[in-house]
This record gives sequence, structure tokens and C-alpha cells, in this order.
Amino acid sequence: MQEVTIQGARGTIPACGDEFKRYGGNTTCYSLRTDKGIIIFDAGTGISHVKREIAHLGKTLPITLFFTHFHMDHVIGFPCFDPLYDKNARINIMADPRRRDNWKSTLKTFMGKPYWPVGLGETDIKMTLKDIPVSRDAMDVYGARVSWLSVPHPQQCLAYRIEAAGKTTIIATDIEYDLETIQTSFINFCRGADFLIFDAQYTPEEYEFHKGWGHSTWQVGARVAACAGIGRLILTHHAPARTDNELNRIIKNARNEFASTDIAMENMVLRK
Ligand SMILES: [Zn+2]
Ligand SMILES: [Zn+2]
Repeated sequence: MQEVTIQGARGTIPACGDEFKRYGGNTTCYSLRTDKGIIIFDAGTGISHVKREIAHLGKTLPITLFFTHFHMDHVIGFPCFDPLYDKNARINIMADPRRRDNWKSTLKTFMGKPYWPVGLGETDIKMTLKDIPVSRDAMDVYGARVSWLSVPHPQQCLAYRIEAAGKTTIIATDIEYDLETIQTSFINFCRGADFLIFDAQYTPEEYEFHKGWGHSTWQVGARVAACAGIGRLILTHHAPARTDNELNRIIKNARNEFASTDIAMENMVLRK
């Protein structure tokens, strides 16, 4: 399945309850499988869906896990990712070497005592932690072309562009622009993509009280999608208390500005 699948679209902290059933309460995770391997973006609690997929595959494929950044909602599912304990697994973990923290140390601190009983690297598996080759524009991963861009967000964050099987998807979870600050470099990065997954944690009204918190609105997503010639806009990083009914109202507003808009939903496969 060479389509990007949304495995978790909630921001900040998982949500559970009937009012979150439609769009799901797991935090950020996206994945893509080619015949050569599995590519994962972020390890929020949505990565639980990926581990179930892997368990049912019937064969062992290599895994590359890219991190956008290391805020808790993007790493919280990582220590529970079963392949980390499977001696047949081959896992390559990648992140931005230009981060001001040392991301490899950050991840080792997070997955280690006293936060977790088994430390990263203590299990008997083939695992590498590699810097993204930022001196280049893009890299080939199991036949998919993956490129990256630094985007505005506290403690730094990357957006990713994935080109595979004739489709292009942008993952821009955790990014802050208002209508005046959208950067041309980001528009160019997104240009012509079939799918733009974009951080719309806040409504425009809420954003007025959350400037500098690192997240955007559906209005900004619609503007980017129109400027960059996007096929379909997918709003993501739902606020933890945002109910299904509220998201249904948001989508109506967003479609008035960019008709081809959807709300990110767990298990949604991005097909043209
Ligand atoms: Zn987040
Ligand atoms: Zn974040």
C-alpha cells in the first residue's frame, strides 16, 4: 500500500470517549508501506495501529521512522512500538541534525529509566539512529522520495514531502503561521502536492489567544492550499478537547474557502 495512512491526528495528548470516536483520539503518526519497507512519521500513540499492521504482514520489512520533532505527543507511543523488541526487526530512526538539542540523547533519555524500564539500544535488534542528510534536498527511502523543510514551531520542527507511486503528500503537523506570516519557502515546498496534511489545532477565534504556541488554523491551511495548488487539504493536530461535532463544523467553514478539504481521521488512507 503505497499511500500515506493517517494513524493518529490528535495533538497535545490522546483523547478518549464517545465524542472523539469518528476522528480518533490517538496522537500523531503517519505511515507508508512500499514493497521494500515501511516508512513512519512520528511515534505518537497512533503508532499502535502501525504495529498491528506489521504484526499481520507475515514478513519482516525494514522500518525507517522519521521524527518531525520531539514534543511528547509525537514520541509517546515510541517505547511501546513492538518492533523495538523483535530481534528480526531492522529499524532506522532519523531526525534533523540541525536541532539545538542532541536528538539522539533526547530520545535515549525519553526511552530509559526512570521513564521506561528498557533503554533505547538495550534490546537485541538491528537499529540505527541517523541524521537526515540535510546537505541534500531529498533522499530515497524504499523507493519513495522524502524531502524536508524546517518550519516555525517551538523547539524546531520539520515538515516532510513524500513522493511515492505518483502521489505527493506533505506532512506539516505542528507549524505556526497566521495569514500574514506564511512563508514563500513553505508554499514552494508544498507546491503541486496531491495532499497537504496541515496543522489546524486552533479555530481563527482561538488563535488570537494562542499566538506563539506553535499551531495554525484551518484558515491558514486553506490559504496555503490555494496558493500552492494542492489537490486535497487534510486538517490535522486536532486540539485534545475538540469533539467530532466541532470538527464537523470546522470542515464546513474550511470548505467555504477551499472546497477540497477533509479532516484527518484515524485509518484514513490518502488516495486520489
Ligand atoms: Zn504536536
Ligand atoms: Zn510540537
